[in-house]
Amino acid sequence: MTPLTPILASQFDSLEAALKHFFGYETFRAGQGAVIEAALRQQDLLVVMPTGGGKSLCFQLPALLHPGLTIVVSPLIALMQDQVMGLEVNDIAATFLNSSLDAATTQQRQRDLLAGRIKLLYVAPERLLQTSFLSFLDQVQTQVGLSAFAIDEAHCVSEWGHDFRPEYRRLAELRRRYAQVPMYALTATATERVRQDIIQQLCLQQPYVHVASFNRPNLYYEVRAKSRQAYADLYRDVRQRSPGSGIIYCLSRREVNELSARLQADGISALPYHAGLSDHARTLNQTRFIRDDVQVIVATIAFGLGINKPDVRFVIHYNLPRNIEGYYQEAGRAGRDGQSSDCLLYFSPKDIYTLEWLIEQKLNPQTGEALDQEQRIARQQLRQVIDYAESTVCRRTIQLGYFGETFAGNCGCCDNCCHPKPLEDWTIPAQKLLSCIARCQERYGLNHVIDVLRGSKNQKILQRRHDQLSTYGIGKDKTVDQWRLLARTLLHQGLMTETTDGYPVLKLNDLSWEVLRHHRSVYVPISIKATPTPEQPNDGLQQSTTGLFQRLRALRKQLADQQSVPPYIIFTDASLQLMAQQQPQTLVEFAQISGVGKRKLEQYGHQFTAEICAYLQEQGLAAAEVAATD
Ligand code: ADP
Ligand code: ZN
Repeated sequence: MTPLTPILASQFDSLEAALKHFFGYETFRAGQGAVIEAALRQQDLLVVMPTGGGKSLCFQLPALLHPGLTIVVSPLIALMQDQVMGLEVNDIAATFLNSSLDAATTQQRQRDLLAGRIKLLYVAPERLLQTSFLSFLDQVQTQVGLSAFAIDEAHCVSEWGHDFRPEYRRLAELRRRYAQVPMYALTATATERVRQDIIQQLCLQQPYVHVASFNRPNLYYEVRAKSRQAYADLYRDVRQRSPGSGIIYCLSRREVNELSARLQADGISALPYHAGLSDHARTLNQTRFIRDDVQVIVATIAFGLGINKPDVRFVIHYNLPRNIEGYYQEAGRAGRDGQSSDCLLYFSPKDIYTLEWLIEQKLNPQTGEALDQEQRIARQQLRQVIDYAESTVCRRTIQLGYFGETFAGNCGCCDNCCHPKPLEDWTIPAQKLLSCIARCQERYGLNHVIDVLRGSKNQKILQRRHDQLSTYGIGKDKTVDQWRLLARTLLHQGLMTETTDGYPVLKLNDLSWEVLRHHRSVYVPISIKATPTPEQPNDGLQQSTTGLFQRLRALRKQLADQQSVPPYIIFTDASLQLMAQQQPQTLVEFAQISGVGKRKLEQYGHQFTAEICAYLQEQGLAAAEVAATD
């Protein structure tokens, strides 16, 4: 390793010039520039950006422009290694210290640190707070200086977050010990409460706060009716998007195993991932996915934490998720690189029963009694997911609304905005349902009302003589699921109400009476059969650019395998697409591509431009041949 000459901000004309030099990007993403300027003023920071928003750059670039060492606290070894790998290919002096290293390597790295040869050190909180490590840091501070502490996944300090880690709490000790060193907190957490908690727990002082929108404009959201041929639909979805990487989430391990085996048998390279597999098998399957050896990973929600793969082109939920926040995070693993990607949710009313059953199993392990509070929260969350799935309004409006963000709607990139569902007039069935509720004296839940409508002969009906009601058996023409759909629609539209004390009883309101008196019509959105998405998996690229893109992808994979790194470490899909479109044939042209910094130009410029020239020549020859035979 060559000693690092101190790189100072004065070396560059502008922050953008530094960005291009180190990372190869021309412009900052929304918010990054202002955050970095605050960091250069030595302010504390709270940076909240959704997955893929570009948080890392907010501390990596300042680390390179400041003298001294930046410490990055990261909770997972896999994440540390991934980030360090990404920095190393850009020739940035970064390293990590964790339990995976032998003593000799650790000592060597510590010597490099004390000699000022490293700009960014990644470390887990447990190690950072060991007494011996803190004395080592004291030494670093006197010899080379500490420029900042960057706390990644900062929501781990909060009990209100979804991933509380007690050792994160102790990070405030750093603040006391190194009072002058700025502290940056970074997270993708969505809730205000956790944000406040982060500021408090880490004792941030008048931090510069940047909260980005949680909108992910490059993601296309769609909910599909899960039909009997769900597997055929899924297969087509995956095929259409080949060779793009994808994640398919299922509820159960059994389904994960079955689905991945079936896809394999049908010629799609897919591997399973769930908590029932051995650690070894899980790591192996994950690595093969990250390295593009397989196209698809079929997984339970055990998969995803610590996966940094930026070029996941689709995430399919083959079952209903448990809550909206979970759905947002899981679907959000698509398209971190900002390229268009698809998030598809297969919705079957059957899943509602399964999830309801799972909720009923939430018991206190000591007493075996039902956990009322947890069950109630889970039921409410499930209701919100169902609302989301059945809604006819812009999917983004609902998701962002859930996080307290107002979004005007009509995003142009979800199924409801692109293909509005046809509405059917169901006023008459609605009148039947509402009058049945009235006949039952507004004292029963939906299941009972449906039983009456469909003329069931069950005990409860007979005991209460509900088979004598005038509405008994008048609804045999509709299935249970259709009645449920109608009931949920009436509830969404406020045309009837339901008690919320844990014993849901249906009640009529003023609007219900308007329906019953023919003063108001009821329209129900009817899901159309899964719409085959138009064939444009590659962003509408022309045929020839698609061909070139595939060639460059193959070259990238070959180089990645030679260096034992994931392909995205070499270039992202976004960079490859630009190469395919702009077709740079010289190094000067190649340097203009976003993602090509100084180091990558030197290392890969020749091979990629040569591949582009070869491709264009072949195309030219082919075209000439066609012309000659015409
Ligand atoms: P986060 O940590 O917020 O999920 P990352 O820092 O991993 O996001 O960045 C996501 C992706 O966006 C990475 O592939 C990164 O290289 C890319 N990226 C970040 N900033 C920019 C930028 N200014 N221009 C282009 N790509 C960027
Ligand atoms: Zn929309």
